[in-house]
Amino acid sequence: MHAFNALITELKTAQKLVVVTGGGMSAESGVSSFRQAMIGPWANYDVRDLATPQAYARNPKLVWQWYNFRRLQSQTAQPSSAHHALVDLEQHIPTFVLVSLAIDGLHWRAGSRDLIELNGCVQRTRCVESAHLGDWEEEGEVPPRCQRCGSPLRPDVVLLGEGFARQDVRRAQIAVESCDAILFLGELSAADPIAQFPFSAKRAGARVLTVNPDPASIFSVMADIHINDTPGNVIPALVAGVTRVEGA
Ligand SMILES: [Zn+2]
Repeated sequence: MHAFNALITELKTAQKLVVVTGGGMSAESGVSSFRQAMIGPWANYDVRDLATPQAYARNPKLVWQWYNFRRLQSQTAQPSSAHHALVDLEQHIPTFVLVSLAIDGLHWRAGSRDLIELNGCVQRTRCVESAHLGDWEEEGEVPPRCQRCGSPLRPDVVLLGEGFARQDVRRAQIAVESCDAILFLGELSAADPIAQFPFSAKRAGARVLTVNPDPASIFSVMADIHINDTPGNVIPALVAGVTRVEGA
């Protein structure tokens, strides 16, 4: 209870907050991980057949179908109470940036707007030639063609081996280097640049806050305040505590 109240106090005074989410938040909405989704007919494939630029070059139809399956899974999932609470928190803190590794689009559906989706979003498409963004086409050619330039479409997600978009990483880094608190939520894969964020934030004098059921993760180890639990169990009550009007 002490850590919970301390976290409320931190967030009440934060002027510039960065929140980082990933697979843990998606799992609480019932979105399976990449590996968990490789069931049924997909169990016969290797990740390299489904989610790399080479796979798309070899067999764009298969890659499109795989991400269409992932997209439909995400579409039937609903934003959790933690997703919704982050929307309330965004409205309460002067400068708020949400950085997510999730591709399910649930933060956007919940209403988060200052959002950097480092891995892209499976609900969007992008054309190969000109990177025109669009909505997913349900019918016709597979993969469909861009209505603006005729080039084939692909999911607007970062495929394995591609690396994050540089402008997204830069935006996230600038937010981390200028925040006064950073909150890591749920289980996160500790790959760069996310794994660097606790260090960059501390160098900038920011407080590192974590809600994560894994006390051994780098984000928990680096935390000034760590709550050893899942976002779904903690965030709705936490945000209610932050946004409650004093004396009400
Ligand atoms: Zn195009």
